[in-house]
Amino acid sequence: MASKGADHQVGSVRGGVWTSRTGRERAGSGLRGYRFGCSGGLCEHGRVTEPNPVTQPLPERSPEEIEAFLTEQQAAYDDLRTRGLKLDLTRGKPSSAQLDLSDELLSLPHGAVDGAGVDTRNYGGLEGIAEIRRLFAELLGIEPEQIVAGGNSSLMMMRDALTYLWLHGGVDSDRPWGAEEKVTWICPVPGYDRHFTLLDWFGIETVTVPMNEDGPDAEAVAELAANDPSIKGIWMVPTYANPTGSVASQEVAARLASMPTAAPDFKIFWDNAYALHHLTEDEAKSADIMSLAAASGNPHRPIVFASTSKITYAGAGVGFLAGSVETIRWYVAHLGKGSIGPDKLNQLRHVQFFGSAQGVRDHMARHRAIIAPKFAAVEEVLSARLGGLGVASWTRPTGGYFVSLDVLDGTASRVVALAKEAGIALTPAGSSFPHGDDPRDANIRLAPTFPELAEVSEAMEAVATCVLLAAAEHLRG
Ligand code: PLP
Repeated sequence: MASKGADHQVGSVRGGVWTSRTGRERAGSGLRGYRFGCSGGLCEHGRVTEPNPVTQPLPERSPEEIEAFLTEQQAAYDDLRTRGLKLDLTRGKPSSAQLDLSDELLSLPHGAVDGAGVDTRNYGGLEGIAEIRRLFAELLGIEPEQIVAGGNSSLMMMRDALTYLWLHGGVDSDRPWGAEEKVTWICPVPGYDRHFTLLDWFGIETVTVPMNEDGPDAEAVAELAANDPSIKGIWMVPTYANPTGSVASQEVAARLASMPTAAPDFKIFWDNAYALHHLTEDEAKSADIMSLAAASGNPHRPIVFASTSKITYAGAGVGFLAGSVETIRWYVAHLGKGSIGPDKLNQLRHVQFFGSAQGVRDHMARHRAIIAPKFAAVEEVLSARLGGLGVASWTRPTGGYFVSLDVLDGTASRVVALAKEAGIALTPAGSSFPHGDDPRDANIRLAPTFPELAEVSEAMEAVATCVLLAAAEHLRG
């Protein structure tokens, strides 16, 4: 992590991928500082713009200089359009090389009987096989009886849990959520678009709070939750959040676990999708939300989710849900209305493939070797092309799948449109906000894992040109 200071160390990724260097935040006017406070002062952490000795921040230039800069960027963009690029930085998907790492799964399992003597080919075992529950309980710091293993999608488990809450209420609810006059959910922004569309699908209202480097603004969350009984929950991506890469601190987690809430059945949907997805040797440890909540007398508050989607196969992994023993009983009881058991063969082959928790960690190091250079390429191009110009700031994540880029207020949609015209697909501007509405039209989520390394650099060069052209257009007015 970058430290605070005028000439602070940045670029802290180890493992021979990123090198350290010094940098000075010179963000110009209009840049969002919701996470790292880069509003015309020094960068606090991770989100950086670096000095470029031959440039001067665009917002400080004269109208004539802006006009000249605009002409240059228009020419660069026209050139870009003639190149017939077809590049995609939209979704956080593993690349083929990453998927190949798990191809031994295709010849597994050896035998179909698990360690407990269960014939995994048959019906039954709604909570998943004991061995995979033990394995991921260890990795996630959870008791094995408090975790269930399911099918390939944790997002589906989130939808199911919300559905059960809606139809029947939770273990601590007075009534089904669907019988409430109004249900509201707290959304740290920027966040994961599918979380928001899921809420929309239920007709759940949203209220946003800022996402900081150490997780959501816990005081803002506590204030909201304390005073409005319609507020029933919050999304949390605690480790290497989508898209900011933030890691929730133990203090933030403790505040959320213990805060008084007006709703007796307030839930923290703790989506730990990137718990093990480190980009550096400095591996973040997830806050222990389950113990914190139990110790605060709120054992049913967190429901934890995780999956192997970005560990083995995104389309054929194993999803997990964890919670209090009562929550697990509640979940399995409702699950049983639509299933007689999960794909236990897939769970068994995952157990055989990994062998142990260390086997999973070793496997993640192989992913890191493939994707860390792609994140380094994003950083390199953004620094070289946009550093010091006062028109962009971005995150430098130490894990997860995304880089969050903030451009001049009012230009993100234009950047995405320009990129599209030039053959580069970016996630629609605003998609990291509920209803796709980024009030500042500044945030763009970059997902560099799927394209080849050379394509990532090429795409980022193109994105940088679009950012500069949109900024120049905007500043000319
Ligand atoms: N949660 C987060 C934060 C994600 O970013 C994603 C995928 O991008 C998912 C969940 C999807 O998880 P799964 O593949 O287990 O459904």
